[in-house]
Amino acid sequence: MNSFELVRPADAGAAVAAAASATADLQGVDVRFIAGGTTLVDLMKLGVERPTRLVDVNRLPLAAIEPTPDGGLRIGATARNSDLANHPTVLRDYPVLSQAILAGASAQLRNMATTAGNLLQRTRCMYFRDTAMRCNKRVPGSGCDAIEGANRSLAILGTSPSCIATNPSDMCVALAALEATVHVRGPNGERDVPFADFHLLPGDTPHRETVVTAGDLVTFVTLPPPRKGSKQHYLKLRDRASYEFALASAAVVIELDGETIGRARVALGGVGTKPWRAPEAESVLVGQKADGALFRKAAEAALKNAKPQSQNGFKIELAKRCIVHTLATATGVAV
Ligand code: SF4
Repeated sequence: MNSFELVRPADAGAAVAAAASATADLQGVDVRFIAGGTTLVDLMKLGVERPTRLVDVNRLPLAAIEPTPDGGLRIGATARNSDLANHPTVLRDYPVLSQAILAGASAQLRNMATTAGNLLQRTRCMYFRDTAMRCNKRVPGSGCDAIEGANRSLAILGTSPSCIATNPSDMCVALAALEATVHVRGPNGERDVPFADFHLLPGDTPHRETVVTAGDLVTFVTLPPPRKGSKQHYLKLRDRASYEFALASAAVVIELDGETIGRARVALGGVGTKPWRAPEAESVLVGQKADGALFRKAAEAALKNAKPQSQNGFKIELAKRCIVHTLATATGVAV
């Protein structure tokens, strides 16, 4: 591991100032905020991340999980994943978020990993993590060894000729379905980012993964007030039952008026280059009678633009079945 400077700021303003000297066009790769360190320290050991300064945000007052005046929930950036998954309000009003978090990593990692760290976690593409391989995300313009290589676990939605890496987060899939908002404090002030806009498609700049840039500190995430009667579910499909990333996952937040679907939010994990909201599926569902045929039609719509690589074509059908079963479980409709 390279040597680095460790800074422990007293407040959020000092943390932003300590990170503001970072190189903007590489999203501040030379200066990193650190909280749980569950991704960053691994990548520093591998030589994938080589910051010269770490800004420790663990002592900042950003760990609270508390109600908002409008009845929603405000989740601090350094709230631990375990605390969030087991929070009584989350279990009661946002169960899909608890289910998604508990489907990821291990208990020990969830005890350390934070809200902001989960939002910013890097891909598990093996070529990204191996500095002997070509990777446009790690070294812009160097090429991508995954496209012609071992790509079974990689993305089928949102890919580009530069990068096909999958976003690895479970939590973010639920946040996409819940229509969260990410709050950022940077050198030029504070701003609120709708969750759908927070992560970026790879395009020809896959090293730019989010709208966060040099000196930007994610301070908290807010959830809108829970909708009465909302039914929610998260389903994750993977090669083994625990401590594994998704091959396909789905988060559903849905409202029924009798047997008719009044409102639907569907998001996918394990298949997209970012947490993948599926508005095409939502449009198919709304106003229709909830049944297996409709769920299948929605799943077809969600995957209609999927573009498989040489080894991951199976993900298209897997993701469709994942959507159908998630909708069936959330609504209680037998399929
Ligand atoms: Fe790098 Fe993306 Fe290619 Fe993986 S898929 S090697 S992360 S450019």
